[in-house]
Amino acid sequence: MERTCGNGTLRAADEGRKVTLIGWVSKRRNLGSLVFIDLRDRSGIVQVTFDETMAEKVKDVRNEYILQVKGTVAKRGQANPKLATGEIEVMAEEVTIVNRAETAPINISDDTDTNEDTRLKYRYLDLRRPVLQNNMILRHKVCMIARRVLDEKGFIEVETPILARSTPEGARDYLVPSRIYNGRFWALPQSPQIYKQLLMIAGMEKYFQIARCFRDEDLRADRQPEFTQIDIEMSFGDEDTIFATVEDLMKAIFKETVNFELEDHFVRIPYADCIRRFGSDKPDLRFGNEIQDLSDLFKDTEFQVFRNCLDNGGVISALHFENAADKYSRKGLDKLQEFVKHGFKAKALAYLKMEKGELTGSVAKPLSIDEKNAVIERLGLKDNDLVLIIADNMKIANAGLGALRVRIAKELGLIDESVYKFLWVTDFPMFEWSEEENRWVAAHHPFTAVKEEDVDKLFSDPEHVSSRAYDLVLNGYELLSGSIRIHDQDLQEKVFEAIGLTMEKAKERFGFFLDAFRYGTPPHGGVGIGLERLVMVLAGTDNIRDVVAFPTTNSSLDLMSESPNTVDQAQLDILGIEISNKDKE
Ligand code: ASP
Repeated sequence: MERTCGNGTLRAADEGRKVTLIGWVSKRRNLGSLVFIDLRDRSGIVQVTFDETMAEKVKDVRNEYILQVKGTVAKRGQANPKLATGEIEVMAEEVTIVNRAETAPINISDDTDTNEDTRLKYRYLDLRRPVLQNNMILRHKVCMIARRVLDEKGFIEVETPILARSTPEGARDYLVPSRIYNGRFWALPQSPQIYKQLLMIAGMEKYFQIARCFRDEDLRADRQPEFTQIDIEMSFGDEDTIFATVEDLMKAIFKETVNFELEDHFVRIPYADCIRRFGSDKPDLRFGNEIQDLSDLFKDTEFQVFRNCLDNGGVISALHFENAADKYSRKGLDKLQEFVKHGFKAKALAYLKMEKGELTGSVAKPLSIDEKNAVIERLGLKDNDLVLIIADNMKIANAGLGALRVRIAKELGLIDESVYKFLWVTDFPMFEWSEEENRWVAAHHPFTAVKEEDVDKLFSDPEHVSSRAYDLVLNGYELLSGSIRIHDQDLQEKVFEAIGLTMEKAKERFGFFLDAFRYGTPPHGGVGIGLERLVMVLAGTDNIRDVVAFPTTNSSLDLMSESPNTVDQAQLDILGIEISNKDKE
């Protein structure tokens, strides 16, 4: 079976060219004695025209039949701007029906109206849609660029086991029972963390892997049980070396896929500043409107609500939106208040509007003239400006205003969708308190290096221990996380202890890893880049399933293969497994 070119590659310059095409029938229309068929292959769609002598040969042809067509490229009378090939058509001279197709159970087109569950059941047909094909091609490109750039920088790709020992990354493990050793289990890797660190100890110096990771997390819309990381680890470098490697990689990816020039070095903001300025550790920097702490302006206030807040150690923080007062009526502001009350447990949302040189709004009356003037001056208020205020404890004020900042920017159209704003968030806290487990847990993972100046606080003040963990954030998405690792056995043991792992337990779980530290461990660090997130941003979609060939649903089901599913009793017997809740199914 032959073809001379891809259907989607033909252009006006090909006029007069004899071509042989193969593809699926995407659409057919009859116009009098003429038949028009849109023929689709991976490169795109082209219109093939069958005149009256040829029309007879395709009279039974329906959507998704595969045709081979020989013909000549001709200019169209009227161009179709929606198609890349829209200026031309191919006048069919010969046609072969390569294969027939039953009526497809889904509508195979970019603007399909078939619901997602049905499309997932017939994913192999859904994947014929050009938009998904292009996403797969984009994903492939990103991987190829990563391989090339990292290879050029001296990284080597090493595969680590999928049947592995579990690495704690904060999620549950998928377990695989062992047949040979009944009662024992493999864990699918949540990430290759331990293995890549062992590769550093093994002297590989610079490693990468396009690695499949598995996390048995609770259901969330944007999660898949398995996903891919561009996983990187290097020895002897520090944050600067690792950031430079990732920045070069991102520059190549963005240039070569969406033709966007990124700046040479991405901004770095320490975690604490990030929370203070944006109320989030993954701020969207495509717009400003940072959180302003106005507490000092009210230190002598007699306004009881603010007074109580400050006396209780709280803050009075605000967001300022220029020229937005008229965009939010009382009702609109009530909605914003509900949003911060319910979503973030804020007590209230106060507002001020600048109208004809004066402040009006929910707290305009109780504030003194001096206080109001101080607000006007601090924020540089002009007519029709809107100020939203939360007086609460700092955590609530930051979280509420942080979320409000993004919501309002979206509502007011303040986000420039054509730019990509990266930032490194650094110096994350080492630990976070887990209500569920009633103990401190590693905020990133327990192999993350502690800031040198904070080591002596490990046990006395874990809350204020900073780590050398970092995230790369893009347009409000966390694109990767990583850290400089601990390379000292004593410190590693102490960190295990700080998260409540007794030495005995730690040895039982990671004994091999702790042992390895004794034989000359190089300083090292790395990152795991979320491939799906990255491709989602490049493809301009917020549905993770748009960038995964065979995804699961939001409820972690593969509708196509109907997995997970039961297995034969014989398979269970051989594994020594008994199902205790069979009746529930
Ligand atoms: N293993 C980490 C993760 O999966 C990334 C890293 O620290 O390199 O989030």
